[in-house]
Amino acid sequence: MKVAVIGSGYVGLVAGACFAESGNQVICMDKDQRKIDSLLNGIIPIYEPGLDAMVEKNAKNGHLRFSTNMKETVEQSTIIFIAVGTPPDEDGSADLSMVLGVAKEIGQHMNGWKVVVDKSTVPVGTAKKVRAVIEKETKHPVDVVSNPEFLKEGAAIDDFMYPDRVVIGVSSTKATEVMRELYTPFVRTGNPIVVMDVVSAEMTKYAANSMLATKISFMNEIANLCDRVGANVENVRQGIATDSRIGHSFIFPGVGYGGSCFPKDVKALIRTARDYHFDTRILRSVEDVNDDQKKILIPKIQKELGNDLTGKTITLWGLSFKPKTDDMREASSRVIIHELHKLGAKINAHDPVAMDEARRLKLDEKVTLFDDNYEALKDSDALVLVTEWLEYREPDYEKMKNLLRTPAVFDGRNIYKPEKMRDMGFTYYSIGRP
Ligand code: NAD
Repeated sequence: MKVAVIGSGYVGLVAGACFAESGNQVICMDKDQRKIDSLLNGIIPIYEPGLDAMVEKNAKNGHLRFSTNMKETVEQSTIIFIAVGTPPDEDGSADLSMVLGVAKEIGQHMNGWKVVVDKSTVPVGTAKKVRAVIEKETKHPVDVVSNPEFLKEGAAIDDFMYPDRVVIGVSSTKATEVMRELYTPFVRTGNPIVVMDVVSAEMTKYAANSMLATKISFMNEIANLCDRVGANVENVRQGIATDSRIGHSFIFPGVGYGGSCFPKDVKALIRTARDYHFDTRILRSVEDVNDDQKKILIPKIQKELGNDLTGKTITLWGLSFKPKTDDMREASSRVIIHELHKLGAKINAHDPVAMDEARRLKLDEKVTLFDDNYEALKDSDALVLVTEWLEYREPDYEKMKNLLRTPAVFDGRNIYKPEKMRDMGFTYYSIGRP
């Protein structure tokens, strides 16, 4: 099949590479000339495990091409995915300018029937808008499909190649057949392709992310209560996780959720509800709890080091919003850095892969970045563990203690054992554990 993916970011590049891997002819298009130049030179502009090998293989065998030219991309493809960003607008709604801009360009270059697929996360009613924009530009027939993406950064290739389910929102049999054919190689183990109407598919993506965000905020609230009543949230977590109705995932307390999806999608769903004169009270609380949670370690740090942190040095381990990605969009580290900076602290930081991203975000104006996580601890008054990268999980505790000026550790992901930290002589704070 001839497939185009417009927008070659975290989602578009992974989708394009995986469609090429299953034998399709794919063009990954992006308006960012530098991104496409770097892909043409074999350099993957993002960090995603396994993506470089897959891109290299499919670029070599000719299944995957890269372009900045919208006209040739549209003309040479039958299925066109829109995978551009949908960042939050000032009022919290999803900014659709990029999606609708791409739709207009697709319409201008149509040379026959096409299936245009909304892969970006877009609010209810967007497919209808995309169709209207395209039909204004062309007389050629078009089917607009909603196909939300559920991949997780850091495990994106696996998630795309072996999805739990594929959701397809369609309004024509012809488009259903095309989408089924395209996705059949990815669901050979029997996971379902769930076909539904377009509006429900658009809603499904927001419902999924909002449910996951709700689980996280709920558990953070329980952890904060554990802190007050003297319970240990780790015991509580294990105690509830074994209930099959609750399950193990997304109930780890920490310094809040970040990333490009949960914060913006919860906001956008609240905003959509408002447009329909409906108040999503649970989701408003999910957001409030998360905003506070990103700052949860600050009073604990102040309790230990004093309210004014002038003259203190604090080291952060982890900058990305979660392990195995360089993505720092809405990362808790950014809020923690902002708060510590405001209180006068000098800040050191290390991250296994997000240092370039931190520089791109100009965080190095506030933070000294170190290539070695232990070097970053030298003469520091405290360590704040923000992202639970594997390499931070079993550190050299003796070395840590010797390098720190005062052995204070603030664990934002509960990865260290309180008893061990106490026995080693650390002053140790975590979340919801005595
Ligand atoms: P991204 O910012 O990494 O990538 C978007 C790309 O689109 C950029 O490379 C940008 O240059 C390109 N672009 C913008 N306007 C363009 C235009 N007019 N023509 C061509 N290219 C254009 O974003 P992302 O993280 O891949 O997210 C894309 C969408 O997928 C969003 O709606 C997001 O909510 C959704 N999504 C993201 C994830 C995730 O984990 N990142 C998961 C599921 C869904």
